[in-house]
Amino acid sequence: MDRMKAVVFHGPMDMRYEEVEKPVPKEGEVCIKVRFASICGSDIEEYKIGSDRARPPLIFGHEFSGEVVEVGPGVSKERIGQRVSVNPILYCGKCYYCKKGLINLCNYRRSVGRTLGIEKKRCDGGFAEYVCVPEFSLVPLKEGVTFEEGALLEPLAVCYCAAKEGNFEKGENVLVIGSGPIGLMITQFLKIFGSGKVAVTDIVDFRLEAAMKCGADYVLNVKNEPVEKALELTDNVGFDRIIVTAGAPNVINDSIKLVRNGGSIVLVAMIRKVVEINPIDIVGRKLTVYGSYMFTNEMHEVMDYLINKKLNVGDIITSVHSLSEVPDVFRRLASENSKDIKVLIKTD
Ligand SMILES: [Zn+2]
Ligand SMILES: [Zn+2]
Repeated sequence: MDRMKAVVFHGPMDMRYEEVEKPVPKEGEVCIKVRFASICGSDIEEYKIGSDRARPPLIFGHEFSGEVVEVGPGVSKERIGQRVSVNPILYCGKCYYCKKGLINLCNYRRSVGRTLGIEKKRCDGGFAEYVCVPEFSLVPLKEGVTFEEGALLEPLAVCYCAAKEGNFEKGENVLVIGSGPIGLMITQFLKIFGSGKVAVTDIVDFRLEAAMKCGADYVLNVKNEPVEKALELTDNVGFDRIIVTAGAPNVINDSIKLVRNGGSIVLVAMIRKVVEINPIDIVGRKLTVYGSYMFTNEMHEVMDYLINKKLNVGDIITSVHSLSEVPDVFRRLASENSKDIKVLIKTD
């Protein structure tokens, strides 16, 4: 058995750089030599608390790019050498939702770098030298898309869908709550799509500075100022749409306060606490609340925005590290005073 280097999650706050067995592609699978991977906010969450979605031992990593180096039985050898990223949603292909193309809603889906799915089976991800995935999950990189950008196609597709979710209209005023990688990429897409004014709130100044670089018209540090101050951007009418990408559970009630009558609230952040809301606000002010979860085919579409330089992921990537440094990087990202936004891992 060949060996490889990987970063293995052994439980909350326990990430180790180790030598493990190199995976061999099974029927219908390919083996990818990983070039770049990216750490997702959800990886940091799972690292901190652990959950059913990430049972140890497990190799994380659902945002990555690389080259196909080996194919399993039933896969054409022509795949070898292809530059690819991967759609981590390993859908069943047979259920009610899959038949409609709604693979993100498949109840039987598994996920690369997670233990999702009915059997909670381990599905190793890209924080390793090599990873095996089903051929159907491959997203070939178009010419002009770099491996660094390829590692970000997954979160970009999440943001592309969230930015459009809930009756997007040109010229509308939008509030993005949370200025992490997801909030910043959504801000870029909103400006590309032709939103009116975009406001971004957060509690960390350097993230808000990044939001300005990403095209925000207005930023507000809600640690120092009341959230209601953001309303001044809308002449106190309220925002047409509010996109929640982060924050404590109370951001839901903040959103209800800041959205205009008839407006919509899009939830992207995985808020895992129960929140009390007053349903009268939803009915009496005709509000709509949307959940935006993952995407279907959009990893292909977002590449065009990278090729024609409309998107700039350079404003979001704050550091690049080798695989061996990843346990330290996780420790740092999990602490309050991290100065990072999006971290890339270079695996060779
Ligand atoms: Zn992610
Ligand atoms: Zn399905």
